Amino acid sequence: MLISEFDPWNSPRCTCPPKYSFGPYTGCSHACIYCYISAYVPWPFTARPKRQVVRRLARELPGLDRSRYLSMANSSDPYPPLEAEMGLTRRCLSFLQGQEFPVLILTKSDLVARDADLLADLPAAVSMTITTLDPRLAAVLEPGAPPPEQRLEALTALHRREVPCILRLDPIIPGLTDQEIESIVEASASFCGHVVASTVKPRPDGLARLRQTFPREMEHLSFSRRGTTRYLPEEQRRTLLQRVASACRAHGLTYAACRENVGGHTAVCDGSHLIPR
Ligand code: SF4
Repeated sequence: MLISEFDPWNSPRCTCPPKYSFGPYTGCSHACIYCYISAYVPWPFTARPKRQVVRRLARELPGLDRSRYLSMANSSDPYPPLEAEMGLTRRCLSFLQGQEFPVLILTKSDLVARDADLLADLPAAVSMTITTLDPRLAAVLEPGAPPPEQRLEALTALHRREVPCILRLDPIIPGLTDQEIESIVEASASFCGHVVASTVKPRPDGLARLRQTFPREMEHLSFSRRGTTRYLPEEQRRTLLQRVASACRAHGLTYAACRENVGGHTAVCDGSHLIPR
């Protein structure tokens, strides 16, 4: 099946509403060094199109629960550079016109703004991840993804078309990106209605890449294991997330955290409440 039930590895800390997971591509050439897909996707950082995506989408959609929504995508980005030539995600969005099936786009790419015309006509919202505003740091953390400035420009363009937008502040890495929490929320506040934040929760291979790239900063971080996930100490996570919550309050944005279990949410975690219904 192309579309599956969203499964956050059975995490009891996941507060997402029931939703479907759907990605036109396998693998993700954004190649973020902290990414977890290298734990379970072969050739994780090479994006390649799935076969007969639009045909399979058309076949599977009628059997789905319409009170849920398509989360697009969770183990890849629907806008890898390849999408600029292939237009596969755009073809999916074109097919969804008139289907009245809600869609939540998750991306790190400004290419999403190309599809503002389609997204404005859909019950859709866009969740844009920004981890740092520093282009040099972003180029190391997320080497295949467009720089943060371009992501902000995409949010501006989407907002102009009245497409609801969400800031995904994920992951927050103490010593690397935490000093930017307030400035990232401020930079996005005019275009977004909601912020979802997450502290870094690396899988072993992502943690190894982080330690290799940032040995000095990572040396100060300790993690404890809970199921398949590694967590920073609770007090440290709570302090970081309280800063996000305060910044959101200051800008009139709703706030939630992803799989943190430290409370303080003022809306649905992934921002899907912003999808027009
Ligand atoms: S954009 Fe997401 S799926 Fe793609 S490499 Fe980065 S963290 Fe992984």
